[in-house]
Amino acid sequence: MSSRILIIEDEQRIADFLQRGLREEGYQVEVQATGPSGWIALQHGTWDLVLLDWWLPGEDGIQLLRRFRQRNRATPVLFLTARDAVEQRVEGLDAGADDYLCKPFAFDELLARTRALLRRPDQADSLTLDYADLHADLATLRASRGGAPLDLTAKEFSLLCLFIRNHGRVLSRTRIFETVWGDQYDGLSNTLEVHVKELRRKLEALGPRIIHTHRGRGYELSARPDPPT
Ligand code: CA
Repeated sequence: MSSRILIIEDEQRIADFLQRGLREEGYQVEVQATGPSGWIALQHGTWDLVLLDWWLPGEDGIQLLRRFRQRNRATPVLFLTARDAVEQRVEGLDAGADDYLCKPFAFDELLARTRALLRRPDQADSLTLDYADLHADLATLRASRGGAPLDLTAKEFSLLCLFIRNHGRVLSRTRIFETVWGDQYDGLSNTLEVHVKELRRKLEALGPRIIHTHRGRGYELSARPDPPT
């Protein structure tokens, strides 16, 4: 049976993105957008994991968490906090959160943490991705090529996971950007190109070119030689 995840998040764009992505991964997902409606869902639902935003209309996530922990200590809670809000993270963990993610976060990182919080011994096999001589471990967020470790940033790791999952397919910049950055691609910034270039540099230090550019279309991970452009 698939795991049931409750998302309490008032930013609709983030809630939609999380809901869509987690459903694609096979989870059952419900979204609540306010503190009071979130509390009702927490009280009356049966959840395997709760994704809880900090700032919510009606009642803050931290208050929900404190009350929830008075009656339920077992259900894992992953807090979504603003970037650089160290005191929020500490307060959240003190109040009983199991983990936190800083916004904006990469979907693959959220998935890795979701899996880690939901992990059961028989699921261990699904925590790694492999293609050709590439290996990525979603539990430890480590990757390697031909057995040699790759020193990747979180974004580069997310990019690599996306490429491995879709090897042999051309991924558009829009698709990559929305998946890894969780944001709409404006076509102006070169953030994506910079990260792909850096990931490529690290991969090619350990083997031949494996991320190919299709001019005007996007990128493809493939162990075949460079395709004509
Ligand atoms: Ca919020």
